[in-house]
Formats: sequence, C-alpha cells, structure tokens
Amino acid sequence: MDRAEDRFRISSFWGEFRNQAEEAAFREYMQSDMVRHMRVALTVWGSLLLLFGLVDYQGLGLSSVFMTLMGARIALSLAIFIYGYVLLRKPKLATSGGVTMALQLVGFLFFYLLYFLRPEIATFTVFVLGLLFISMFVFVPNRLYFSAIAAVLGLAGLMVCMIVMERPGNVIFGAFVLLTLPILVGFFATQRLQIAQRQQYAMYTHANEVNQELQAEIERRKVLEKELNRQATTDPLTGLFNRRQYEMLFDRERERSKRNGSHLSLCVADIDFFKRVNDEHGHDAGDQVLKHVADQFSHALRQSDIIGRFGGEEFILLLPDTGLEDAEVVINRLRQRLEAAPVSVGDDQIGVTATFGLTEVCTSDNSIEDVIRRADKALYEGKAGGRNCVVPVPC
Ligand code: GH3
Ligand code: MG
Ligand code: MG
Repeated sequence: MDRAEDRFRISSFWGEFRNQAEEAAFREYMQSDMVRHMRVALTVWGSLLLLFGLVDYQGLGLSSVFMTLMGARIALSLAIFIYGYVLLRKPKLATSGGVTMALQLVGFLFFYLLYFLRPEIATFTVFVLGLLFISMFVFVPNRLYFSAIAAVLGLAGLMVCMIVMERPGNVIFGAFVLLTLPILVGFFATQRLQIAQRQQYAMYTHANEVNQELQAEIERRKVLEKELNRQATTDPLTGLFNRRQYEMLFDRERERSKRNGSHLSLCVADIDFFKRVNDEHGHDAGDQVLKHVADQFSHALRQSDIIGRFGGEEFILLLPDTGLEDAEVVINRLRQRLEAAPVSVGDDQIGVTATFGLTEVCTSDNSIEDVIRRADKALYEGKAGGRNCVVPVPC
C-alpha cells in the first residue's frame, strides 16, 4: 500500500500525478470522456459566438464594424468547430491540452477586437470575459496548468487593451480585481476536481491490480491443488491410480452397482517374466516397459474403466457395468493388443505379455481384498498354466 501511495502521489497545486507514467496513464484512461466533454464545450462556445452576432447587428446594423466583427466571429467559430472535428481523429489533443489553450488565447484576441471596436459596451465585454474565465476552467476540460496560463494571459491582454485605450487607472484596477476573482474561483474549483478524479482513479487502479494479483494467486493455487491431487492419487511412474485411489473408486463403483443392480468386474494383471526384462535390459528398460503396459491398458479400455498400479508389475483393472463373460472378451482383446505391441528400448524390441486373473464382484464380498484374493488365485492358475492368458473365475 505504501508503494501504491507513492506511485499515486498527487501534486496538490496543479492537481496532477507526480509520477509521469501514472499521469500519462490517467489521461489515456480519461481521454474518451475528455473528448466528449470538450466537444460539447466547443459546440456551445462556437454557437454562442455566432449567436452574439445578433447583438452586434442590433447595435451596429450592417455597418463595416459589424462586418469586421462578424467576419472574426465566423473565422473563430470555424476554428472552434474544426478543432472539435479534429479531436475525433486525434483525441490525444484533448488530454495534452496545448492546442486547447492556444485556441482560448485566439478567442481572447476576438474579445480585445470587440473591446476596441465597440467601446460603448466595454463594461459588458469585460463582464463576459469574466464569465469566460470561469467557464474556461469549469466547462472546458483541460490541464489546470494550461487553463491557468490562458486565463492569466487573457487578463494581461485585457489590461494592455485598457491601457492602450487610456482607461482611468482606477477603472483598470477595478477590472483587474474583478476578473481575478473568477480566475481564482475557477482555478481552485478545478484543482479540487482534478485531485478528486485522480484519487478515484488511483483507488480504482489499485483495487484492480490487487484483484488481478488475487486472481493470479487463485489460478496458481488451483494448478497447485490439481498437481497435489494428482500426486496424491496416482503412481508417479505410470500415471495410473495408486492403491488408495482405486480402492476408493472401487467402493464408489460397488455402491453404484448395488444401487443399479449392474455388474462390476475386477482383474489382476501381472507381466510375464518381468524379472528377465530387468536382468537383460536393465531397470530403466523395465520402467519403460511398465509405462508402455500402462499406456496400452489406458488406450484399450473405456474411459469409465479404472486402472490402478497394484504393486511392482501388477495392475488392477476395474470394469463397471461389465459381467464376467463380457469382461473376459475385453481383457482377452487387451492381452492380444499387448502381445502384438513390443516396446522399443534403444535398439532392442522387447516383447511383453501378461497374465490376467479375472472375477466378478459378488454380494458376498466384504471388501476389495476378498475380490482381489479370488482374482489373484485365478492369476496364479494362469501363470501355472503357461502365462499370457486370461483366467476367469466366478463368485
Ligand atoms: P512371472 O511371469 O512369474 O510374473 O515372472 P516375473 O519375472 O514377472 O516375476 P515377478 O512377478 O515375481 O517379478 C517381479 C519383478 O518386478 C521383481 C522386481 O525386480 C520387478 N519390479 C517391481 N517393481 C518394479 C519397478 O518399479 N521397476 C522395475 N524396473 N522393476 C520392478
Ligand atoms: Mg508379480
Ligand atoms: Mg510378473
């Protein structure tokens, strides 16, 4: 939070972020709003400028002074409208503020012209200038810095005009004091607004960033949780379910088969002469064979079937919704598939077969151990009978 406060420190005088990058980001964030407000302000300004031509006409008729002023009004409002149009193409101009200030200064030139050409309404002109100063701060969105420069130069210009027109000193001083007031009010009101906008932006940005960090942390934890769960439920070498997990899944499947009255078969598979693989090709080759067998089982069986690593080179296969006869067909296909797919280890091709003891879960079985014991006995018979075969045993 301390760092965030540092980053979002605001100059209390100019009402801008001290940090240049933050100030730029803020203006970028505000850009579309500023363009919209600025275009409204420009439309009002340009329209009023033209409308006040009527006031000129009332006082001057179609005189040359009227024509001069009207020409200036049209030229200035044209510049104002063009700027409004250009902002659509170059919205950055609204937030950088220099062009807006330049246009305001040109606007003052018109008032000086009015002041010279229509001395009879000089008081009115000064009054309108005062209004202009305050609206310039309040209604034309710009950086305080530029608005202040425009206002001070605008006031200085008027002072020069009054001196040139040889107004009495007290009148000039009076106008100065009178016009300083709207400038100060406009300046401080805008300063408050600029600071409040930036404080709000800082809070919003900070909250957003904290939220993003939190989201990232949640994602990291989800990945971690998934990984931990994987580690807790699977065998690291083969990726198959470990004992704890397939025992849990067995219980779940057994409950389901009881509810539905469906069959559930269990098979114990043991790789034939696996010791030989280790002895002849090394332990690493043996590991590779184990992975290969696991892959073969995973690819050949259904998604709903459950495959676990029982021990060293023994596997448990759980076949939900499958009776003993169907299971025998499935497991036999699996056996043939394994036999037909030797493993490449370096330059060697290692043929792999396995023997399968198969049984169906019956109502009299109290636990998975009872079922495994029966399947194991069948497996033993298969080994004794020559291996690479499936031996089914009913309840
Ligand atoms: P059988 O056909 O009678 O099953 O003969 P077998 O050689 O496969 O005999 P057995 O099932 O007793 O062999 C088990 C061997 O498996 C013993 C051990 O060296 C090996 N083994 C157990 N776990 C691993 C393992 O994680 N990696 C490797 N490479 N070998 C293992
Ligand atoms: Mg064994
Ligand atoms: Mg074996």
